[in-house]
Amino acid sequence: MKKFNIKDYQITGSENFNPRNHPTKIKDFYEDKVDYEAILKSLQTEMDELQSIMYAHSKYGVLAVFQAMDAAGKDGTMKAVFQGVHPLGMSFYSFKRPSETELNHDYMWRCYKELPERGKMQIFNRSYYEEVLVVKVHPEILENYQKIPNELKGNDVWKKRYQDIKHFEDYLANNGIVVIKFFLNVSKEEQGNRLIERIEDITKNWKFEEGDIKERGFWNEYQKAYEEMINETSTEKNPWYVVPADDKKNMRLIVAKIIVEKLKELRMSYPEPDESRKLTLLGLIDTIKQQN
Ligand code: ATP
Ligand code: MG
Repeated sequence: MKKFNIKDYQITGSENFNPRNHPTKIKDFYEDKVDYEAILKSLQTEMDELQSIMYAHSKYGVLAVFQAMDAAGKDGTMKAVFQGVHPLGMSFYSFKRPSETELNHDYMWRCYKELPERGKMQIFNRSYYEEVLVVKVHPEILENYQKIPNELKGNDVWKKRYQDIKHFEDYLANNGIVVIKFFLNVSKEEQGNRLIERIEDITKNWKFEEGDIKERGFWNEYQKAYEEMINETSTEKNPWYVVPADDKKNMRLIVAKIIVEKLKELRMSYPEPDESRKLTLLGLIDTIKQQN
Protein backbone atom coordinates (compact mmCIF):
# COMPACT_ATOMS: atom_id res chain seq x y z
CA MET A 1 0.00 0.00 0.00
CA LYS A 2 1.28 3.45 -0.91
CA LYS A 3 2.27 5.85 1.88
CA PHE A 4 -0.65 6.23 4.25
CA ASN A 5 -1.15 8.85 6.94
CA ILE A 6 -4.13 8.36 9.24
CA LYS A 7 -4.08 12.11 10.01
CA ASP A 8 -5.21 12.86 6.44
CA TYR A 9 -8.65 11.50 7.33
CA GLN A 10 -8.83 12.39 11.00
CA ILE A 11 -10.90 15.26 12.38
CA THR A 12 -10.01 16.04 15.97
CA GLY A 13 -11.91 19.26 16.51
CA SER A 14 -8.71 21.29 16.81
CA GLU A 15 -9.50 22.95 13.48
CA ASN A 16 -12.76 23.65 11.75
CA PHE A 17 -13.87 20.76 9.50
CA ASN A 18 -14.67 22.04 6.04
CA PRO A 19 -16.02 19.36 3.66
CA ARG A 20 -14.58 21.26 0.71
CA ASN A 21 -11.12 20.28 1.92
CA HIS A 22 -12.13 16.61 1.96
CA PRO A 23 -12.61 15.30 -1.59
CA THR A 24 -14.85 12.31 -2.25
CA LYS A 25 -12.23 10.92 -4.63
CA ILE A 26 -8.47 10.74 -4.13
CA LYS A 27 -5.51 8.98 -5.75
CA ASP A 28 -5.83 5.19 -5.45
CA PHE A 29 -3.81 3.31 -2.87
CA TYR A 30 -3.65 0.27 -5.19
CA GLU A 31 -2.27 -0.36 -8.66
CA ASP A 32 -4.93 -2.72 -9.98
CA LYS A 33 -7.49 -5.30 -8.81
CA VAL A 34 -4.85 -7.89 -7.96
CA ASP A 35 -2.88 -5.37 -5.93
CA TYR A 36 -6.10 -4.25 -4.17
CA GLU A 37 -6.93 -7.81 -3.21
CA ALA A 38 -3.43 -8.46 -1.90
CA ILE A 39 -3.40 -5.32 0.25
CA LEU A 40 -6.89 -6.01 1.59
CA LYS A 41 -5.98 -9.60 2.43
CA SER A 42 -2.92 -8.54 4.38
CA LEU A 43 -4.93 -5.92 6.31
CA GLN A 44 -7.61 -8.52 7.06
CA THR A 45 -5.00 -10.93 8.41
CA GLU A 46 -3.44 -8.20 10.53
CA MET A 47 -6.83 -7.17 11.91
CA ASP A 48 -7.66 -10.76 12.81
CA GLU A 49 -4.37 -11.15 14.67
CA LEU A 50 -4.87 -7.87 16.54
CA GLN A 51 -8.42 -8.82 17.50
CA SER A 52 -7.20 -12.19 18.84
CA ILE A 53 -4.67 -10.36 21.00
CA MET A 54 -7.38 -7.96 22.14
CA TYR A 55 -9.55 -10.92 23.12
CA ALA A 56 -6.75 -12.58 25.11
CA HIS A 57 -5.77 -9.24 26.63
CA SER A 58 -9.43 -8.74 27.54
CA LYS A 59 -9.27 -5.08 28.57
CA TYR A 60 -10.18 -3.07 25.48
CA GLY A 61 -13.23 -3.27 23.23
CA VAL A 62 -13.86 -1.54 19.89
CA LEU A 63 -16.97 0.22 18.66
CA ALA A 64 -16.77 1.06 14.95
CA VAL A 65 -19.52 3.43 13.82
CA PHE A 66 -20.45 3.84 10.15
CA GLN A 67 -22.46 6.81 8.95
CA ALA A 68 -23.08 7.78 5.34
CA MET A 69 -25.62 8.85 2.77
CA ASP A 70 -27.60 6.04 1.10
CA ALA A 71 -25.62 3.96 -1.42
CA ALA A 72 -22.27 5.24 -0.10
CA GLY A 73 -21.24 1.62 0.38
CA LYS A 74 -21.59 0.96 4.10
CA ASP A 75 -22.59 -2.69 3.73
CA GLY A 76 -19.96 -3.64 1.17
CA THR A 77 -17.25 -1.86 3.14
CA MET A 78 -18.15 -3.64 6.36
CA LYS A 79 -18.20 -6.99 4.56
CA ALA A 80 -14.79 -6.45 2.96
CA VAL A 81 -13.07 -4.87 5.94
CA PHE A 82 -14.14 -7.32 8.65
CA GLN A 83 -14.16 -10.49 6.56
CA GLY A 84 -10.96 -11.85 8.09
CA VAL A 85 -11.88 -11.33 11.74
CA HIS A 86 -12.91 -14.36 13.83
CA PRO A 87 -16.73 -14.33 13.69
CA LEU A 88 -16.94 -14.89 17.45
CA GLY A 89 -14.82 -11.82 18.06
CA MET A 90 -17.15 -9.39 16.42
CA SER A 91 -20.74 -8.53 15.62
CA PHE A 92 -22.79 -6.10 13.58
CA TYR A 93 -25.88 -4.13 14.42
CA SER A 94 -28.00 -2.04 12.01
CA PHE A 95 -30.07 0.81 13.38
CA LYS A 96 -33.38 1.31 11.64
CA ARG A 97 -36.26 3.65 12.37
CA PRO A 98 -36.88 3.27 16.14
CA SER A 99 -39.70 0.92 17.17
CA GLU A 100 -42.50 1.86 19.53
CA THR A 101 -40.63 0.21 22.41
CA GLU A 102 -37.43 2.05 21.51
CA LEU A 103 -39.28 5.36 21.36
CA ASN A 104 -40.48 4.72 24.89
CA HIS A 105 -36.87 5.03 26.04
CA ASP A 106 -34.14 7.64 25.75
CA TYR A 107 -32.42 7.40 22.35
CA MET A 108 -29.19 5.91 23.69
CA TRP A 109 -31.00 2.94 25.24
CA ARG A 110 -31.12 0.85 22.10
CA CYS A 111 -27.47 1.62 21.33
CA TYR A 112 -26.25 0.98 24.85
CA LYS A 113 -27.62 -2.56 24.76
CA GLU A 114 -25.43 -3.32 21.73
CA LEU A 115 -22.09 -2.04 23.03
CA PRO A 116 -19.08 -4.39 22.72
CA GLU A 117 -17.68 -6.58 25.45
CA ARG A 118 -14.00 -6.21 26.25
CA GLY A 119 -11.98 -8.13 23.69
CA LYS A 120 -14.59 -7.78 20.96
CA MET A 121 -15.40 -5.52 18.05
CA GLN A 122 -18.90 -4.20 17.55
CA ILE A 123 -19.85 -2.57 14.28
CA PHE A 124 -22.71 -0.09 14.13
CA ASN A 125 -24.38 0.35 10.75
CA ARG A 126 -25.84 3.82 11.53
CA SER A 127 -26.02 4.77 15.18
CA TYR A 128 -27.10 7.35 17.76
CA TYR A 129 -25.76 9.89 15.24
CA GLU A 130 -29.04 9.48 13.31
CA GLU A 131 -30.47 11.61 16.12
CA VAL A 132 -28.57 14.63 14.78
CA LEU A 133 -28.81 13.66 11.10
CA VAL A 134 -32.14 12.31 9.84
CA VAL A 135 -33.98 13.80 12.83
CA LYS A 136 -32.37 17.20 12.26
CA VAL A 137 -33.10 17.13 8.51
CA HIS A 138 -36.70 16.11 9.26
CA PRO A 139 -37.67 18.01 12.42
CA GLU A 140 -41.17 16.53 12.15
CA ILE A 141 -39.68 13.29 13.53
CA LEU A 142 -38.79 15.14 16.72
CA GLU A 143 -42.11 16.97 16.69
CA ASN A 144 -44.47 14.09 15.96
CA TYR A 145 -42.78 10.85 16.91
CA GLN A 146 -40.15 11.33 19.57
CA LYS A 147 -41.57 11.26 23.03
CA ILE A 148 -39.31 13.67 24.86
CA PRO A 149 -41.26 16.41 26.67
CA ASN A 150 -42.21 19.40 24.50
CA GLU A 151 -40.27 21.83 26.69
CA LEU A 152 -37.10 19.87 25.84
CA LYS A 153 -37.63 20.16 22.07
CA GLY A 154 -36.34 23.74 21.78
CA ASN A 155 -33.75 25.06 19.33
CA ASP A 156 -30.95 23.99 21.65
CA VAL A 157 -31.92 20.32 21.34
CA TRP A 158 -29.13 19.64 18.78
CA LYS A 159 -26.46 21.35 20.86
CA LYS A 160 -27.54 19.24 23.82
CA ARG A 161 -27.41 16.08 21.73
CA TYR A 162 -23.89 16.86 20.49
CA GLN A 163 -22.81 17.43 24.09
CA ASP A 164 -24.45 14.24 25.34
CA ILE A 165 -22.92 12.19 22.53
CA LYS A 166 -19.48 13.66 23.23
CA HIS A 167 -19.81 12.85 26.92
CA PHE A 168 -21.06 9.36 26.13
CA GLU A 169 -18.07 8.64 23.88
CA ASP A 170 -15.70 10.13 26.46
CA TYR A 171 -17.22 7.82 29.03
CA LEU A 172 -16.68 4.83 26.74
CA ALA A 173 -13.06 5.84 26.09
CA ASN A 174 -12.50 6.20 29.84
CA ASN A 175 -13.71 2.62 30.19
CA GLY A 176 -11.44 1.17 27.51
CA ILE A 177 -14.01 1.09 24.71
CA VAL A 178 -12.36 2.60 21.65
CA VAL A 179 -14.83 4.40 19.41
CA ILE A 180 -13.84 4.66 15.73
CA LYS A 181 -16.27 6.79 13.75
CA PHE A 182 -16.37 6.73 9.97
CA PHE A 183 -18.16 9.09 7.64
CA LEU A 184 -18.11 7.52 4.18
CA ASN A 185 -18.05 10.62 2.03
CA VAL A 186 -19.69 9.99 -1.35
CA SER A 187 -20.47 12.66 -3.96
CA LYS A 188 -24.01 13.36 -5.08
CA GLU A 189 -23.08 12.38 -8.63
CA GLU A 190 -21.65 9.00 -7.59
CA GLN A 191 -24.66 8.34 -5.36
CA GLY A 192 -26.84 9.00 -8.41
CA ASN A 193 -24.81 6.50 -10.48
CA ARG A 194 -25.19 3.82 -7.84
CA LEU A 195 -28.94 4.37 -7.47
CA ILE A 196 -29.35 4.11 -11.26
CA GLU A 197 -27.29 0.90 -11.20
CA ARG A 198 -29.70 -0.52 -8.63
CA ILE A 199 -32.47 0.03 -11.17
CA GLU A 200 -30.63 -1.13 -14.30
CA ASP A 201 -29.03 -4.25 -12.80
CA ILE A 202 -31.92 -6.56 -11.90
CA THR A 203 -29.77 -8.44 -9.39
CA LYS A 204 -29.59 -5.14 -7.49
CA ASN A 205 -33.29 -4.25 -7.74
CA TRP A 206 -33.94 -5.62 -4.26
CA LYS A 207 -31.60 -2.97 -2.87
CA PHE A 208 -33.49 -0.13 -4.50
CA GLU A 209 -35.78 1.90 -2.29
CA GLU A 210 -37.95 4.76 -3.52
CA GLY A 211 -37.36 6.45 -0.16
CA ASP A 212 -33.68 6.87 -1.00
CA ILE A 213 -34.63 9.19 -3.87
CA LYS A 214 -36.78 11.27 -1.55
CA GLU A 215 -33.83 11.59 0.87
CA ARG A 216 -31.55 12.49 -2.06
CA GLY A 217 -33.77 15.55 -2.48
CA PHE A 218 -32.51 16.67 0.94
CA TRP A 219 -28.83 16.29 -0.08
CA ASN A 220 -27.77 19.82 0.94
CA GLU A 221 -29.57 19.61 4.28
CA TYR A 222 -27.82 16.30 5.03
CA GLN A 223 -24.42 17.69 4.05
CA LYS A 224 -24.97 20.60 6.41
CA ALA A 225 -26.05 18.25 9.19
CA TYR A 226 -22.95 16.07 8.65
CA GLU A 227 -20.69 19.10 8.66
CA GLU A 228 -22.11 20.44 11.89
CA MET A 229 -22.16 17.00 13.52
CA ILE A 230 -18.50 16.36 12.66
CA ASN A 231 -17.47 19.79 13.90
CA GLU A 232 -19.40 19.39 17.13
CA THR A 233 -18.46 15.81 18.00
CA SER A 234 -14.84 15.43 16.92
CA THR A 235 -12.33 15.33 19.75
CA GLU A 236 -8.69 14.30 20.21
CA LYS A 237 -9.83 11.16 22.00
CA ASN A 238 -12.72 10.37 19.68
CA PRO A 239 -12.03 11.84 16.24
CA TRP A 240 -14.16 11.36 13.15
CA TYR A 241 -12.60 9.74 10.09
CA VAL A 242 -13.85 11.21 6.83
CA VAL A 243 -13.21 8.65 4.09
CA PRO A 244 -13.46 9.40 0.35
CA ALA A 245 -16.15 7.00 -0.88
CA ASP A 246 -16.43 7.47 -4.65
CA ASP A 247 -14.03 4.57 -5.24
CA LYS A 248 -15.20 1.56 -3.24
CA LYS A 249 -11.88 -0.28 -3.28
CA ASN A 250 -9.96 2.73 -2.06
CA MET A 251 -12.55 3.36 0.66
CA ARG A 252 -12.26 -0.22 1.91
CA LEU A 253 -8.47 -0.07 2.10
CA ILE A 254 -8.57 3.24 3.99
CA VAL A 255 -11.14 1.99 6.51
CA ALA A 256 -9.28 -1.29 7.08
CA LYS A 257 -5.97 0.53 7.49
CA ILE A 258 -7.44 2.99 10.02
CA ILE A 259 -8.83 0.14 12.14
CA VAL A 260 -5.52 -1.73 12.06
CA GLU A 261 -3.64 1.43 13.06
CA LYS A 262 -6.06 2.16 15.90
CA LEU A 263 -5.70 -1.38 17.24
CA LYS A 264 -1.91 -1.14 17.04
CA GLU A 265 -1.97 2.14 18.97
CA LEU A 266 -3.33 0.20 21.96
CA ARG A 267 -0.03 -1.73 22.21
CA MET A 268 -1.73 -4.88 23.45
CA SER A 269 0.00 -8.21 23.85
CA TYR A 270 -0.89 -11.74 24.84
CA PRO A 271 -0.85 -11.97 28.64
CA GLU A 272 2.42 -13.58 29.80
CA PRO A 273 2.40 -16.02 32.72
CA ASP A 274 4.86 -15.35 35.56
CA GLU A 275 7.67 -17.81 36.31
CA SER A 276 5.74 -19.89 38.83
CA ARG A 277 2.75 -20.18 36.53
CA LYS A 278 5.05 -21.24 33.67
CA LEU A 279 6.48 -24.03 35.88
CA THR A 280 2.99 -25.15 36.90
CA LEU A 281 1.92 -25.29 33.25
CA LEU A 282 5.02 -27.24 32.18
CA GLY A 283 4.38 -29.70 35.03
CA LEU A 284 0.90 -30.32 33.66
CA ILE A 285 2.34 -31.71 30.41
CA ASP A 286 3.35 -34.87 32.27
CA THR A 287 -0.11 -35.18 33.78
CA ILE A 288 -1.69 -34.94 30.32
CA LYS A 289 0.70 -37.56 28.91
CA GLN A 290 -0.01 -39.94 31.82
CA GLN A 291 -3.71 -39.67 31.05
CA ASN A 292 -3.18 -40.98 27.50
P1 ATP B 1 -29.62 -0.48 3.35
O1 ATP B 1 -30.57 0.45 2.66
O2 ATP B 1 -28.29 -0.56 2.68
O3 ATP B 1 -30.19 -1.80 3.66
P2 ATP B 1 -29.89 1.34 5.56
O4 ATP B 1 -29.00 1.61 6.74
O5 ATP B 1 -30.14 2.49 4.64
O6 ATP B 1 -29.25 0.14 4.80
P3 ATP B 1 -32.70 1.18 5.77
O7 ATP B 1 -33.63 0.24 6.45
O8 ATP B 1 -32.85 1.46 4.32
O9 ATP B 1 -31.23 0.73 6.11
O10 ATP B 1 -32.75 2.59 6.49
C1 ATP B 1 -32.83 2.79 7.84
C2 ATP B 1 -33.53 4.10 8.02
O11 ATP B 1 -33.75 4.30 9.40
C3 ATP B 1 -32.72 5.27 7.51
O12 ATP B 1 -33.51 6.07 6.68
C4 ATP B 1 -32.35 6.02 8.78
O13 ATP B 1 -32.21 7.39 8.59
C5 ATP B 1 -33.53 5.65 9.67
N1 ATP B 1 -33.22 5.83 11.08
C6 ATP B 1 -32.20 5.27 11.78
N2 ATP B 1 -32.19 5.75 13.04
C7 ATP B 1 -33.21 6.62 13.13
C8 ATP B 1 -33.71 7.45 14.16
N3 ATP B 1 -33.15 7.47 15.35
N4 ATP B 1 -34.80 8.19 13.90
C9 ATP B 1 -35.38 8.16 12.68
N5 ATP B 1 -34.96 7.43 11.67
C10 ATP B 1 -33.88 6.66 11.88
MG1 MG C 1 -31.41 2.32 2.90
